Amino acid sequence: MNTPTNATLPGQPHIAYSGDQLHVEGVRLSELAREHGTPLFVYSKAAMLSALAAYQRGFAGRQAQICYAMKANSSLAILQLFAEAGCGFDIVSGGELARVLAAGGDPAKVIFSGVGKTRAEMKQALQVGIACFNVESEAELDVLSDVAVGLGKKAPVSLRVNPNVDPKTHPYISTGLKGNKFGIAHEDALRAYQHAASLPGLKVVGIDCHIGSQITDSTPYLDAMDRVLDLVADVEAAGIPIHHIDFGGGLGINYNGDTPPEADALWAQLLAKLDARGYGQRQLMVEPGRSLVGNAGVCLTEVLYLKPGEQKNFCIIDAAMNDLPRPAMYQAFHQIVPVQPRSGDGVVYDVVGPVCESGDWIGRDRQLLVQAGDVLAVLSAGAYCMSMASNYNTRGRAAEILVDGTKAHLIRQRESAFDTFALEQLV
Ligand SMILES: *Cc1c(COP(=O)(O)O)cnc(C)c1O
Repeated sequence: MNTPTNATLPGQPHIAYSGDQLHVEGVRLSELAREHGTPLFVYSKAAMLSALAAYQRGFAGRQAQICYAMKANSSLAILQLFAEAGCGFDIVSGGELARVLAAGGDPAKVIFSGVGKTRAEMKQALQVGIACFNVESEAELDVLSDVAVGLGKKAPVSLRVNPNVDPKTHPYISTGLKGNKFGIAHEDALRAYQHAASLPGLKVVGIDCHIGSQITDSTPYLDAMDRVLDLVADVEAAGIPIHHIDFGGGLGINYNGDTPPEADALWAQLLAKLDARGYGQRQLMVEPGRSLVGNAGVCLTEVLYLKPGEQKNFCIIDAAMNDLPRPAMYQAFHQIVPVQPRSGDGVVYDVVGPVCESGDWIGRDRQLLVQAGDVLAVLSAGAYCMSMASNYNTRGRAAEILVDGTKAHLIRQRESAFDTFALEQLV
Protein backbone atom coordinates (compact mmCIF):
# COMPACT_ATOMS: atom_id res chain seq x y z
CA MET A 1 0.00 0.00 0.00
CA ASN A 2 2.69 2.45 -1.02
CA THR A 3 0.91 5.59 -2.02
CA PRO A 4 3.07 7.89 -4.07
CA THR A 5 3.57 11.35 -2.67
CA ASN A 6 1.92 14.28 -4.44
CA ALA A 7 -0.55 11.89 -6.06
CA THR A 8 -4.03 13.07 -6.92
CA LEU A 9 -6.76 10.50 -6.66
CA PRO A 10 -8.57 9.49 -9.84
CA GLY A 11 -11.36 11.90 -10.72
CA GLN A 12 -10.70 14.04 -7.63
CA PRO A 13 -8.15 16.70 -8.48
CA HIS A 14 -8.69 18.65 -5.26
CA ILE A 15 -8.10 15.65 -3.01
CA ALA A 16 -4.46 14.67 -3.07
CA TYR A 17 -1.46 13.41 -1.12
CA SER A 18 1.19 15.96 -0.43
CA GLY A 19 4.19 14.61 1.40
CA ASP A 20 2.78 11.71 3.41
CA GLN A 21 -0.55 13.38 4.11
CA LEU A 22 -3.90 13.37 2.32
CA HIS A 23 -5.27 16.87 1.80
CA VAL A 24 -8.52 18.40 0.63
CA GLU A 25 -7.27 21.52 -1.16
CA GLY A 26 -4.77 23.07 1.25
CA VAL A 27 -6.02 21.37 4.43
CA ARG A 28 -4.54 18.25 6.05
CA LEU A 29 -7.21 15.68 6.76
CA SER A 30 -5.38 14.24 9.78
CA GLU A 31 -5.64 17.65 11.45
CA LEU A 32 -9.35 17.98 10.70
CA ALA A 33 -9.96 14.53 12.19
CA ARG A 34 -8.02 15.47 15.32
CA GLU A 35 -9.80 18.78 15.72
CA HIS A 36 -13.37 17.78 14.87
CA GLY A 37 -13.45 14.03 15.53
CA THR A 38 -14.77 11.29 13.26
CA PRO A 39 -16.81 10.36 11.32
CA LEU A 40 -16.41 13.67 9.54
CA PHE A 41 -17.48 14.73 6.05
CA VAL A 42 -15.05 17.09 4.32
CA TYR A 43 -15.95 18.80 1.06
CA SER A 44 -13.88 20.82 -1.40
CA LYS A 45 -15.44 24.06 -2.57
CA ALA A 46 -13.10 24.19 -5.59
CA ALA A 47 -14.10 20.67 -6.63
CA MET A 48 -17.80 21.60 -6.56
CA LEU A 49 -17.24 24.80 -8.50
CA SER A 50 -15.09 23.08 -11.10
CA ALA A 51 -17.73 20.37 -11.59
CA LEU A 52 -20.29 23.15 -12.07
CA ALA A 53 -17.94 24.99 -14.45
CA ALA A 54 -17.94 21.95 -16.78
CA TYR A 55 -21.71 22.34 -17.21
CA GLN A 56 -21.42 26.12 -17.55
CA ARG A 57 -18.79 25.70 -20.31
CA GLY A 58 -21.01 23.14 -21.99
CA PHE A 59 -23.92 25.59 -22.11
CA ALA A 60 -21.94 28.71 -23.07
CA GLY A 61 -23.98 30.78 -25.53
CA ARG A 62 -27.20 28.84 -24.85
CA GLN A 63 -30.27 29.65 -22.83
CA ALA A 64 -29.80 27.13 -20.05
CA GLN A 65 -30.58 26.89 -16.36
CA ILE A 66 -28.65 24.44 -14.20
CA CYS A 67 -30.86 23.27 -11.34
CA TYR A 68 -28.77 21.42 -8.74
CA ALA A 69 -30.63 18.26 -7.66
CA MET A 70 -30.16 19.01 -3.99
CA LYS A 71 -31.14 15.62 -2.63
CA ALA A 72 -27.56 14.59 -3.49
CA ASN A 73 -26.27 16.86 -0.72
CA SER A 74 -28.58 19.42 0.81
CA SER A 75 -26.36 21.06 3.43
CA LEU A 76 -27.20 24.76 3.62
CA ALA A 77 -23.67 26.00 2.94
CA ILE A 78 -23.49 23.87 -0.21
CA LEU A 79 -26.83 25.23 -1.42
CA GLN A 80 -25.53 28.73 -0.70
CA LEU A 81 -22.42 28.01 -2.78
CA PHE A 82 -24.47 26.84 -5.76
CA ALA A 83 -27.02 29.64 -5.41
CA GLU A 84 -24.23 32.23 -5.45
CA ALA A 85 -22.81 30.54 -8.56
CA GLY A 86 -26.14 31.10 -10.35
CA CYS A 87 -27.75 27.69 -9.93
CA GLY A 88 -31.39 26.96 -9.45
CA PHE A 89 -32.50 23.86 -7.58
CA ASP A 90 -34.37 20.68 -8.36
CA ILE A 91 -36.34 19.82 -5.22
CA VAL A 92 -38.35 16.77 -4.25
CA SER A 93 -40.11 17.94 -1.07
CA GLY A 94 -41.40 20.96 0.79
CA GLY A 95 -38.56 20.44 3.24
CA GLU A 96 -36.05 20.91 0.43
CA LEU A 97 -37.85 24.11 -0.62
CA ALA A 98 -37.50 25.43 2.94
CA ARG A 99 -33.76 24.65 2.76
CA VAL A 100 -33.39 26.54 -0.54
CA LEU A 101 -35.03 29.60 0.99
CA ALA A 102 -32.95 29.32 4.18
CA ALA A 103 -29.78 29.18 2.05
CA GLY A 104 -30.74 32.30 0.07
CA GLY A 105 -31.70 30.47 -3.13
CA ASP A 106 -34.07 32.05 -5.64
CA PRO A 107 -37.50 30.33 -5.65
CA ALA A 108 -37.99 31.53 -9.23
CA LYS A 109 -35.21 29.10 -10.22
CA VAL A 110 -36.71 26.10 -8.39
CA ILE A 111 -38.28 23.12 -10.12
CA PHE A 112 -40.22 20.58 -8.10
CA SER A 113 -39.89 16.89 -9.04
CA GLY A 114 -41.27 13.77 -7.40
CA VAL A 115 -44.19 11.34 -7.75
CA GLY A 116 -45.90 12.13 -4.45
CA LYS A 117 -46.24 15.86 -3.92
CA THR A 118 -48.82 16.68 -1.25
CA ARG A 119 -51.37 19.49 -1.46
CA ALA A 120 -49.53 21.29 1.34
CA GLU A 121 -46.26 21.09 -0.59
CA MET A 122 -47.94 22.34 -3.78
CA LYS A 123 -49.41 25.28 -1.89
CA GLN A 124 -46.07 26.16 -0.29
CA ALA A 125 -44.35 26.08 -3.70
CA LEU A 126 -47.08 28.13 -5.42
CA GLN A 127 -46.98 30.77 -2.70
CA VAL A 128 -43.24 31.38 -3.13
CA GLY A 129 -43.51 31.27 -6.93
CA ILE A 130 -41.33 28.38 -8.09
CA ALA A 131 -40.40 28.09 -11.78
CA CYS A 132 -42.05 24.78 -12.54
CA PHE A 133 -43.70 21.65 -11.21
CA ASN A 134 -42.41 18.51 -12.91
CA VAL A 135 -45.61 16.51 -12.83
CA GLU A 136 -45.38 12.72 -12.84
CA SER A 137 -49.00 11.52 -13.27
CA GLU A 138 -52.37 12.62 -14.64
CA ALA A 139 -53.87 12.41 -11.16
CA GLU A 140 -51.28 14.88 -9.92
CA LEU A 141 -52.32 17.32 -12.70
CA ASP A 142 -55.88 17.43 -11.34
CA VAL A 143 -54.79 17.99 -7.75
CA LEU A 144 -52.25 20.66 -8.69
CA SER A 145 -54.82 22.53 -10.78
CA ASP A 146 -57.28 22.39 -7.91
CA VAL A 147 -54.74 23.73 -5.40
CA ALA A 148 -53.69 26.52 -7.79
CA VAL A 149 -57.30 27.58 -8.48
CA GLY A 150 -57.85 27.74 -4.70
CA LEU A 151 -54.99 30.23 -4.46
CA GLY A 152 -56.07 32.21 -7.53
CA LYS A 153 -52.89 31.16 -9.35
CA LYS A 154 -51.82 29.18 -12.39
CA ALA A 155 -49.21 26.52 -11.70
CA PRO A 156 -46.40 26.30 -14.29
CA VAL A 157 -46.09 22.64 -15.27
CA SER A 158 -43.82 20.35 -17.18
CA LEU A 159 -44.62 16.67 -17.65
CA ARG A 160 -41.97 14.18 -16.71
CA VAL A 161 -42.06 11.71 -19.54
CA ASN A 162 -40.62 8.27 -19.44
CA PRO A 163 -38.55 7.76 -22.59
CA ASN A 164 -38.11 4.01 -21.88
CA VAL A 165 -34.38 3.89 -22.49
CA ASP A 166 -32.06 1.73 -20.45
CA PRO A 167 -29.41 3.81 -18.68
CA LYS A 168 -27.43 0.59 -17.89
CA THR A 169 -26.99 1.45 -14.24
CA HIS A 170 -28.01 -0.20 -10.95
CA PRO A 171 -31.72 -1.17 -11.11
CA TYR A 172 -32.47 0.95 -8.02
CA ILE A 173 -31.12 4.07 -9.69
CA SER A 174 -32.64 3.53 -13.12
CA THR A 175 -35.80 5.58 -13.46
CA GLY A 176 -36.71 5.90 -17.12
CA LEU A 177 -37.82 2.35 -17.95
CA LYS A 178 -41.31 0.92 -18.30
CA GLY A 179 -42.45 -0.64 -15.05
CA ASN A 180 -40.85 2.14 -13.06
CA LYS A 181 -42.84 4.37 -10.70
CA PHE A 182 -41.45 7.56 -12.26
CA GLY A 183 -42.80 9.66 -15.09
CA ILE A 184 -45.61 9.37 -17.63
CA ALA A 185 -45.31 6.67 -20.31
CA HIS A 186 -44.28 7.97 -23.71
CA GLU A 187 -47.54 6.65 -25.29
CA ASP A 188 -49.68 8.50 -22.72
CA ALA A 189 -47.81 11.79 -22.80
CA LEU A 190 -49.73 13.57 -25.57
CA ARG A 191 -53.05 12.81 -23.87
CA ALA A 192 -51.64 14.01 -20.53
CA TYR A 193 -50.51 17.28 -22.15
CA GLN A 194 -53.99 17.80 -23.61
CA HIS A 195 -55.45 17.13 -20.19
CA ALA A 196 -53.01 19.61 -18.58
CA ALA A 197 -53.81 22.28 -21.16
CA SER A 198 -57.54 21.89 -20.43
CA LEU A 199 -57.25 22.49 -16.66
CA PRO A 200 -57.96 25.98 -15.32
CA GLY A 201 -55.16 26.09 -12.73
CA LEU A 202 -52.28 25.01 -14.97
CA LYS A 203 -50.03 26.58 -17.55
CA VAL A 204 -47.92 24.17 -19.61
CA VAL A 205 -44.35 25.46 -19.77
CA GLY A 206 -42.10 22.50 -20.45
CA ILE A 207 -41.19 18.86 -20.76
CA ASP A 208 -38.70 16.86 -18.76
CA CYS A 209 -37.15 13.47 -18.34
CA HIS A 210 -34.69 11.90 -15.94
CA ILE A 211 -33.60 8.43 -16.90
CA GLY A 212 -31.49 7.31 -13.98
CA SER A 213 -28.34 7.94 -12.03
CA GLN A 214 -24.61 7.10 -12.20
CA ILE A 215 -24.86 6.95 -16.01
CA THR A 216 -21.38 6.56 -17.50
CA ASP A 217 -22.16 6.52 -21.21
CA SER A 218 -23.64 9.20 -23.48
CA THR A 219 -25.77 6.79 -25.54
CA PRO A 220 -28.78 6.64 -23.19
CA TYR A 221 -28.85 10.45 -23.08
CA LEU A 222 -28.78 10.72 -26.86
CA ASP A 223 -31.54 8.11 -27.18
CA ALA A 224 -33.66 9.83 -24.52
CA MET A 225 -33.20 13.18 -26.24
CA ASP A 226 -34.53 11.77 -29.51
CA ARG A 227 -37.57 10.35 -27.76
CA VAL A 228 -38.25 13.61 -25.91
CA LEU A 229 -37.87 15.76 -29.04
CA ASP A 230 -40.30 13.46 -30.88
CA LEU A 231 -42.81 14.22 -28.17
CA VAL A 232 -42.13 17.97 -28.25
CA ALA A 233 -42.98 17.87 -31.96
CA ASP A 234 -46.22 15.93 -31.32
CA VAL A 235 -47.34 18.13 -28.43
CA GLU A 236 -46.63 21.36 -30.29
CA ALA A 237 -48.41 19.99 -33.38
CA ALA A 238 -51.44 19.61 -31.08
CA GLY A 239 -51.25 23.34 -30.35
CA ILE A 240 -49.53 23.23 -26.96
CA PRO A 241 -46.26 25.22 -26.95
CA ILE A 242 -43.34 23.79 -24.96
CA HIS A 243 -41.18 26.62 -23.65
CA HIS A 244 -38.38 24.70 -21.97
CA ILE A 245 -36.85 21.25 -22.33
CA ASP A 246 -35.35 19.67 -19.21
CA PHE A 247 -33.02 16.69 -19.63
CA GLY A 248 -32.76 15.79 -15.95
CA GLY A 249 -29.60 14.69 -14.17
CA GLY A 250 -27.92 11.34 -13.81
CA LEU A 251 -24.38 11.86 -15.07
CA GLY A 252 -22.06 9.48 -13.22
CA ILE A 253 -18.76 10.00 -11.44
CA ASN A 254 -15.59 7.97 -11.05
CA TYR A 255 -16.04 5.70 -8.03
CA ASN A 256 -13.89 2.78 -9.10
CA GLY A 257 -12.32 3.43 -12.47
CA ASP A 258 -15.64 4.50 -14.01
CA THR A 259 -15.15 6.75 -17.02
CA PRO A 260 -18.23 8.93 -17.47
CA PRO A 261 -17.99 11.70 -20.06
CA GLU A 262 -17.21 15.18 -18.73
CA ALA A 263 -20.33 17.34 -18.56
CA ASP A 264 -19.06 19.71 -21.27
CA ALA A 265 -18.16 16.83 -23.62
CA LEU A 266 -21.54 15.15 -23.03
CA TRP A 267 -23.34 18.41 -23.74
CA ALA A 268 -21.31 19.07 -26.88
CA GLN A 269 -22.76 15.81 -28.23
CA LEU A 270 -26.27 16.52 -27.00
CA LEU A 271 -26.30 20.10 -28.27
CA ALA A 272 -25.14 18.89 -31.69
CA LYS A 273 -28.20 16.67 -31.81
CA LEU A 274 -30.46 19.47 -30.56
CA ASP A 275 -29.11 21.81 -33.23
CA ALA A 276 -29.48 19.18 -35.93
CA ARG A 277 -33.11 18.71 -34.96
CA GLY A 278 -33.75 22.46 -34.81
CA TYR A 279 -34.21 22.80 -31.02
CA GLY A 280 -30.84 24.33 -30.16
CA GLN A 281 -32.25 27.76 -29.33
CA ARG A 282 -34.84 26.51 -26.83
CA GLN A 283 -34.63 27.26 -23.12
CA LEU A 284 -32.82 24.23 -21.66
CA MET A 285 -32.70 22.90 -18.13
CA VAL A 286 -30.65 20.20 -16.46
CA GLU A 287 -30.84 18.70 -12.99
CA PRO A 288 -27.39 17.38 -12.06
CA GLY A 289 -26.87 16.09 -8.54
CA ARG A 290 -24.12 13.50 -8.04
CA SER A 291 -21.86 14.90 -10.78
CA LEU A 292 -21.66 18.29 -9.02
CA VAL A 293 -20.80 17.05 -5.53
CA GLY A 294 -19.97 13.33 -5.45
CA ASN A 295 -16.23 13.51 -5.96
CA ALA A 296 -15.91 16.74 -3.97
CA GLY A 297 -16.30 14.99 -0.61
CA VAL A 298 -14.67 12.41 1.63
CA CYS A 299 -15.77 10.86 4.90
CA LEU A 300 -13.04 10.56 7.50
CA THR A 301 -13.32 7.62 9.85
CA GLU A 302 -11.10 6.14 12.55
CA VAL A 303 -10.09 2.50 12.73
CA LEU A 304 -11.48 1.20 16.03
CA TYR A 305 -10.44 -2.47 15.97
CA LEU A 306 -8.77 -4.99 13.72
CA LYS A 307 -10.44 -8.36 14.05
CA PRO A 308 -8.71 -11.25 12.32
CA GLY A 309 -11.05 -14.08 11.35
CA GLU A 310 -10.91 -17.57 9.89
CA GLN A 311 -12.46 -16.56 6.59
CA LYS A 312 -12.25 -12.79 6.68
CA ASN A 313 -10.32 -10.10 8.47
CA PHE A 314 -12.43 -7.21 9.64
CA CYS A 315 -11.37 -3.60 9.92
CA ILE A 316 -13.97 -2.05 12.21
CA ILE A 317 -14.32 1.71 11.73
CA ASP A 318 -16.36 4.38 13.48
CA ALA A 319 -18.42 5.27 10.36
CA ALA A 320 -21.33 3.00 9.54
CA MET A 321 -24.26 2.43 7.21
CA ASN A 322 -26.12 5.24 8.94
CA ASP A 323 -23.38 7.65 7.76
CA LEU A 324 -22.57 6.00 4.42
CA PRO A 325 -25.71 4.15 3.28
CA ARG A 326 -24.74 3.50 -0.34
CA PRO A 327 -22.89 0.19 0.07
CA ALA A 328 -25.77 -1.32 2.08
CA MET A 329 -28.44 0.11 -0.24
CA TYR A 330 -26.90 -0.37 -3.67
CA GLN A 331 -23.81 -2.52 -3.04
CA ALA A 332 -21.99 0.62 -4.07
CA PHE A 333 -18.21 0.88 -4.15
CA HIS A 334 -16.31 3.66 -2.39
CA GLN A 335 -12.52 3.76 -2.40
CA ILE A 336 -11.04 3.71 1.10
CA VAL A 337 -7.56 5.15 1.62
CA PRO A 338 -5.41 6.06 4.63
CA VAL A 339 -4.93 9.76 5.33
CA GLN A 340 -1.33 9.00 6.40
CA PRO A 341 -0.20 5.87 4.55
CA ARG A 342 2.25 3.49 6.22
CA SER A 343 4.78 1.67 4.10
CA GLY A 344 4.38 -2.04 3.62
CA ASP A 345 1.94 -4.44 2.02
CA GLY A 346 -1.10 -4.58 4.23
CA VAL A 347 -3.80 -7.18 4.75
CA VAL A 348 -7.13 -7.79 3.03
CA TYR A 349 -10.03 -6.65 5.18
CA ASP A 350 -13.74 -6.20 5.03
CA VAL A 351 -14.21 -2.66 6.29
CA VAL A 352 -17.31 -2.58 8.49
CA GLY A 353 -19.10 -0.23 10.85
CA PRO A 354 -20.41 -0.68 14.40
CA VAL A 355 -24.11 -0.96 13.47
CA CYS A 356 -25.87 -4.21 14.34
CA GLU A 357 -26.61 -5.36 10.78
CA SER A 358 -24.66 -7.66 8.50
CA GLY A 359 -25.42 -5.13 5.76
CA ASP A 360 -23.27 -2.64 7.64
CA TRP A 361 -20.18 -2.83 5.49
CA ILE A 362 -18.42 0.05 3.78
CA GLY A 363 -15.90 -1.86 1.66
CA ARG A 364 -15.20 -5.53 0.95
CA ASP A 365 -11.85 -7.22 0.37
CA ARG A 366 -9.71 -4.11 0.67
CA GLN A 367 -5.97 -4.25 0.99
CA LEU A 368 -5.02 -1.93 3.84
CA LEU A 369 -2.03 -1.43 6.08
CA VAL A 370 -3.60 0.06 9.19
CA GLN A 371 -3.56 0.00 12.96
CA ALA A 372 -6.27 0.93 15.44
CA GLY A 373 -6.38 4.71 15.71
CA ASP A 374 -5.48 5.35 12.07
CA VAL A 375 -7.76 7.62 10.09
CA LEU A 376 -9.15 6.45 6.76
CA ALA A 377 -10.85 8.52 4.06
CA VAL A 378 -13.86 7.04 2.30
CA LEU A 379 -13.78 8.73 -1.10
CA SER A 380 -16.54 9.97 -3.41
CA ALA A 381 -18.66 10.67 -0.35
CA GLY A 382 -20.03 14.06 -1.41
CA ALA A 383 -23.30 12.74 -2.88
CA TYR A 384 -26.04 10.59 -1.35
CA CYS A 385 -24.14 10.05 1.89
CA MET A 386 -24.85 12.80 4.42
CA SER A 387 -28.19 13.54 2.75
CA MET A 388 -29.21 9.88 3.28
CA ALA A 389 -27.68 9.56 6.75
CA SER A 390 -29.90 8.41 9.61
CA ASN A 391 -29.78 8.05 13.38
CA TYR A 392 -30.09 4.25 13.33
CA ASN A 393 -28.61 2.74 16.50
CA THR A 394 -28.98 6.23 18.05
CA ARG A 395 -25.88 7.39 16.30
CA GLY A 396 -25.68 11.15 15.95
CA ARG A 397 -25.02 12.26 12.41
CA ALA A 398 -21.49 13.32 11.48
CA ALA A 399 -20.16 16.87 11.37
CA GLU A 400 -19.43 18.49 8.00
CA ILE A 401 -16.58 20.75 6.89
CA LEU A 402 -16.35 22.85 3.74
CA VAL A 403 -12.75 23.53 2.73
CA ASP A 404 -11.92 26.67 0.76
CA GLY A 405 -8.20 26.84 0.01
CA THR A 406 -6.47 26.66 3.39
CA LYS A 407 -9.65 27.49 5.35
CA ALA A 408 -11.88 24.84 6.87
CA HIS A 409 -15.43 25.97 7.70
CA LEU A 410 -17.53 23.86 10.04
CA ILE A 411 -20.88 23.84 8.18
CA ARG A 412 -22.70 21.35 10.39
CA GLN A 413 -22.01 20.39 13.98
CA ARG A 414 -21.88 16.80 15.07
CA GLU A 415 -25.22 15.62 16.48
CA SER A 416 -25.19 14.57 20.11
CA ALA A 417 -27.16 11.61 21.44
CA PHE A 418 -29.48 14.17 23.01
CA ASP A 419 -30.13 15.74 19.59
CA THR A 420 -31.27 12.37 18.30
CA PHE A 421 -34.09 12.10 20.85
CA ALA A 422 -34.79 15.76 21.51
CA LEU A 423 -38.28 15.59 19.95
CA GLU A 424 -39.35 12.53 21.94
CA GLN A 425 -41.41 12.45 25.11
CA LEU A 426 -41.95 10.03 27.94
CA VAL A 427 -45.60 9.22 28.71
C1 LIG B 1 -32.20 12.41 -8.20
C2 LIG B 1 -32.68 13.22 -9.34
C3 LIG B 1 -31.78 13.99 -10.08
C4 LIG B 1 -30.30 13.98 -9.86
O1 LIG B 1 -29.73 12.76 -10.19
P1 LIG B 1 -28.14 12.58 -10.17
O2 LIG B 1 -27.93 11.18 -10.60
O3 LIG B 1 -27.70 12.81 -8.77
O4 LIG B 1 -27.57 13.59 -11.11
C5 LIG B 1 -32.30 14.79 -11.10
N1 LIG B 1 -33.63 14.82 -11.35
C6 LIG B 1 -34.51 14.08 -10.66
C7 LIG B 1 -35.94 14.15 -11.00
C8 LIG B 1 -34.07 13.26 -9.64
O5 LIG B 1 -34.94 12.51 -8.96
